[in-house]
Amino acid sequence: MKMLLESPEQKVHLNITANQCPGCPSNLAARLVMQVTFETLKNQRPIIFGQGCGIGRDFLQRSGLGTHDSGIAAMKTAMAIRGIDRPVVVIDGDGQIDMGLADMATAFQLGYQYVHVVCDNQAHAASGSHTTGATDILARTSVRSAGEPRPRKLFPLMLMFSGAAYVATASVSHPQDLERKLKNAFTRMPAFIQVLTPCNPSWGYDDDKGTLVARLAVECGMWPLYEWKDRVFGRQNVPRKATVKDYVSLQRRYAHLDEEGIQVLERYVGGLDDLMAKLEQGFGEP
Ligand code: SF4
Repeated sequence: MKMLLESPEQKVHLNITANQCPGCPSNLAARLVMQVTFETLKNQRPIIFGQGCGIGRDFLQRSGLGTHDSGIAAMKTAMAIRGIDRPVVVIDGDGQIDMGLADMATAFQLGYQYVHVVCDNQAHAASGSHTTGATDILARTSVRSAGEPRPRKLFPLMLMFSGAAYVATASVSHPQDLERKLKNAFTRMPAFIQVLTPCNPSWGYDDDKGTLVARLAVECGMWPLYEWKDRVFGRQNVPRKATVKDYVSLQRRYAHLDEEGIQVLERYVGGLDDLMAKLEQGFGEP
């Protein structure tokens, strides 16, 4: 198998420019993941595998839509047969959460040793920005002009109870937190990290505002940062500096919201806060 992302100079993370939109947050996050992976694990010759809009597009090796995790199971098995022991990191988008749900949950349940990073832009951005299971409540997509009344899947929590040794959420707006979590994941596999990476055209903000929008999501509580590590759950303490209104006002995907709609989102954030508190109470530091 050809590995386009390997080079003798180990500058592989520079190879993924593939005509992404200017300021694409998924591209930024993917570069950071690759840089941290290749710098941290350089003596173990890591392999990066996957694909997504903004994530190398067709420059990365991949197994097919929704099958990256079964591809990894096959790769790890083939490597084991040949006596090859190299770390593998998958990077893809939130479409994998829908299309690859069975593969991913089963690969984690079976204990395959790899790290899976999802750059979550809450849309099938490469094929018209329609809804995924990660699309936020009431966010407009190309096929839902008023948005969905349903909350997104909380996929890290699903994997937390499906054999993961490590799960976390992260955001492209908090690169040091993402780097720390990647390093935690490298020593606790199977591991899953879901990184919030807004999408310029799907979300409808100016193309220099991607990291600002992501930061507001964290600071208003729509995107809590948390991790499950060594069987302990913890939420990162981020000051609540922004309101839900601050967050939605920068995005055309929420332009249809009136005061009542914003209150729905505020209640949703309140529900997430309650859930995080209960998880910390039940699974936090003893
Ligand atoms: S459509 Fe979205 S995810 Fe795709 S390259 Fe543009 S900003 Fe990035």
